[in-house]
Amino acid sequence: MTRAILKPGRERSARQGHPWIFSGAIARLNGSPAPGELVEVRAADGSFVGLAAFSPASQIRLRLWTTTPGLAVDEAFLQARLAAAVAARQRLGLLRPDGGCRLVHGEADGLPGLIVDHYAGYLAVQFLAAGVEALREVILDALTSLLAPAGILERSAASARRLEGLASRQGPLRGSPPPPELAVRSGELWLLADLAHGQKTGAYLDQQANHWRVARHAADARVLDVFAHTGGFGLAALIRGARRATLVESSADTLALARRQAERNGLAADCEFVAANAFDYLRELAAAGANFDLVILDPPKFVHNAGQLKRGARAYKDINRLAMGLLADGGLLASFSCSGNVSRELFHKILAGAARDAGCQANLVAGLGQPADHPVALQIPETEYLTGALVQVRRPDQP
Ligand code: SAH
Repeated sequence: MTRAILKPGRERSARQGHPWIFSGAIARLNGSPAPGELVEVRAADGSFVGLAAFSPASQIRLRLWTTTPGLAVDEAFLQARLAAAVAARQRLGLLRPDGGCRLVHGEADGLPGLIVDHYAGYLAVQFLAAGVEALREVILDALTSLLAPAGILERSAASARRLEGLASRQGPLRGSPPPPELAVRSGELWLLADLAHGQKTGAYLDQQANHWRVARHAADARVLDVFAHTGGFGLAALIRGARRATLVESSADTLALARRQAERNGLAADCEFVAANAFDYLRELAAAGANFDLVILDPPKFVHNAGQLKRGARAYKDINRLAMGLLADGGLLASFSCSGNVSRELFHKILAGAARDAGCQANLVAGLGQPADHPVALQIPETEYLTGALVQVRRPDQP
């Protein structure tokens, strides 16, 4: 096996539980391993650090599989890791046969670069690093024997694969293909997920718990669900007693799916479907003097890398200022960022700036974030990407 010797002190993060070793931390490599091949990592003093997968194209040159001496990274190892990830969700009561749940969240589940989402008996997988790519057949075999899914579909189109020098790959891998609009139970709602062509792996599984958390405050509310996708927030709010929900979504295809999803749940009569750019539409609403009791902002990632931070922060501030302007005293805003580069601290600052510009005060009702099936590994800060805040708008000096 090829050996990688690290520069002095560069084994520290690995020993603290972080699986990434950057190219600059490697002193030398005695061999030329293939992409994804197993490499033994040693510290400068020769002591064992772990076994890692080699990613020649990536700045993250090595991803550790394990730091436990004497373990082999083989079929049994992968089976055990996958079984543990599934058991962790089961333990939290998150797995139901007709529901949707992320079963493997990459690094946080000890499987760097692997995403596995379960949708009502089907699996959607993403191989986002050279290590898991090299082991794809073993992983698919293990998933098949562990879960006996009706079908497995690949959705490895993510930009992360480009950084690994891997081409995008999509399509059916095992079993039968899922129906084009698979009905997935999410609390009291049926979500319609298009696993083959929909966004992400078919739905925003990471927002399911937040749909219901936010809906707690929906009784009698006029709801504006912005960046709605298929409208999970708006529909959950209607189930919890909202008067009306306006869904704003720029993709016409997605909005058509949102309408079918609302119909499927018997809620379409209380919904308005608006195909529009959210920034433009919120300005129009303001100009028309519109008013809401609950606004949800769940935009796409505005910040993809540190260089985009300033521009992205401005976009978050703009859209939040516009949303706050539509809320009367006591109205609620559920606002999200799925940009990993935007910390919770920065997000709060952005919201504070937006409130100042909107001429109101924003009081924090609850912090929102990733659900337990998309775990944040505290030793691996990069596993956290979703930040949210539920705030109550106050306008103390207005009649
Ligand atoms: N709230 C959704 C997930 C939203 S993902 C849920 O809980 O399921 C972000 C959505 O915003 C995507 O569906 C995307 O198509 C849409 N979108 C992106 N840019 C937009 C824009 N400028 N205006 C309106 N919608 C936009």
